[in-house]
Amino acid sequence: MEVNIPDSSLPRVVIVGSGFGGIQLAKSLTGKAFEVVLLDKNNYHTFLPLLYQVATAGLEPDAIAEPVREIFNGQPRFNFRMAEVLQIDPQQNTLTTSIGTLHYDYLVLACGSQANFYRNEELIRHALPMKTVRNALALRSRLLENSERALELSDKQQQLEQVNIVIAGGGPTGVELAGAIAELRDVVLAKDYPELPLKHMKIHLVEGNDRLLKSMGEDSSWKARQFLTRMGITVHLNALVKSYDGAVVTLSNGDTHAARTLFWTAGVEGVLIPGLSPASVGKGSRYVVNVFNQVEGYENVFAIGDNALQVFPDYPQGLPGLAPTSIQQGQWLAKNLVSLHQKQPLQPFRYVNKGVMAVIGRNRAVVELPFWHTQGFIAWLLWMGVHLLLLVGFRNKASTVLNWAVNYFSYSRASRLITRFQNAPVEAVTSVSGASVPL
Ligand SMILES: Cc1cc2nc3c(=O)[nH]c(=O)nc-3n(C[C@H](O)[C@H](O)[C@H](O)COP(=O)(O)OP(=O)(O)OC[C@H]3O[C@@H](n4cnc5c(N)ncnc54)[C@H](O)[C@@H]3O)c2cc1C
Repeated sequence: MEVNIPDSSLPRVVIVGSGFGGIQLAKSLTGKAFEVVLLDKNNYHTFLPLLYQVATAGLEPDAIAEPVREIFNGQPRFNFRMAEVLQIDPQQNTLTTSIGTLHYDYLVLACGSQANFYRNEELIRHALPMKTVRNALALRSRLLENSERALELSDKQQQLEQVNIVIAGGGPTGVELAGAIAELRDVVLAKDYPELPLKHMKIHLVEGNDRLLKSMGEDSSWKARQFLTRMGITVHLNALVKSYDGAVVTLSNGDTHAARTLFWTAGVEGVLIPGLSPASVGKGSRYVVNVFNQVEGYENVFAIGDNALQVFPDYPQGLPGLAPTSIQQGQWLAKNLVSLHQKQPLQPFRYVNKGVMAVIGRNRAVVELPFWHTQGFIAWLLWMGVHLLLLVGFRNKASTVLNWAVNYFSYSRASRLITRFQNAPVEAVTSVSGASVPL
């Protein structure tokens, strides 16, 4: 069955994924002589940088997600379909999706990345990833459920094992999550559960490198570690999570930590859709693209954002998996698609490094702009400003500012509902193949 898209004589650009890259590309194609079809398995765009605030009860999911139809209301020659793309047939220029087949003239893969558990079955079963709104809600429920369950135990040691947390991965996501959980523990859980020994609750942050935030400078790494340590977080460097049976985390250095919860931010891989040649896939399960974002071996198939492996002399491992990378590639590709269709020469993509930042609880952040590094309160204000600017939709910006203000001044978190079934198995979140089951 064909996906029902209104007939058009214009060439059709099909974009898979309404993340940062896909949304930007579709916007940049406005007014160009193409029919645009945007596909996503969800009907919304997720602002992933604030996902950890949903996971730690600071924001409701609606504040960080925007319905795709709201973003493109009234845009001509634009079609959105909520569908999962299952297979690509590059010979026929067609896609198989969950709602039927679809022809494309140009295909753009902007499917992002997913948690990589390195095929460790134990981790797939027990560790909780944070890549989607559903994941964040499961994390939030887990954090709150832990305290509810601990109340049922009479032994203090068992109570602590129930509430202790291990976070694998000391990159920006792990660091931000650790800071936010420490704050949740101190300002909310301690008040809500005075019977529990929460001042002894352990938060372990485990990083395989010799410093946190390896993608940032040493000054930021050092400061981040200092901030976290002051918040009572135990940082383990040069250590990997080796195994986890749901009760005890074993590290590569032999250390063991009893914890009912392991959050996984230690690896990502590109989301691949079957059908393209294996030669088009490179390191980190990403599509190998040239400087025009064309996927290796195909003239009319492109990949952008976390889905793409684009190597430059300054970036031998590929461009960083950041929102600005996806946005810039989306903008650039729109111009190149016009050139390609008009048989004009394509322009090689040029990446502009806009800097990196990570927030660590209240009033503290580390920020690296191309010309300036700063840490502490000023960095925290900068972090807030940049995230508000990037957040899609006025309603989301307004609701986020309001929530931040209330949380800041009231030392509270409003979004404390446990939304999954009590005793739901951990694996009811997502599997490594991306298949998710209802929570
Ligand atoms: C928790 C977290 C925090 C982050 N913090 C920051 C930060 O502070 N700053 C920063 O710059 N970057 C940050 N990042 C990274 C940044 O969010 C990503 O680099 C960016 O989202 C990549 O954009 P994208 O368009 O490539 O993919 P995504 O934004 O991941 O979007 C991919 C889309 O594709 C859809 N999709 C996937 N497979 C299919 C399919 N088969 N069929 C249909 N649809 C599909 C998904 O539903 C999704 O909507 C963070 C990431 C995470 C997970």
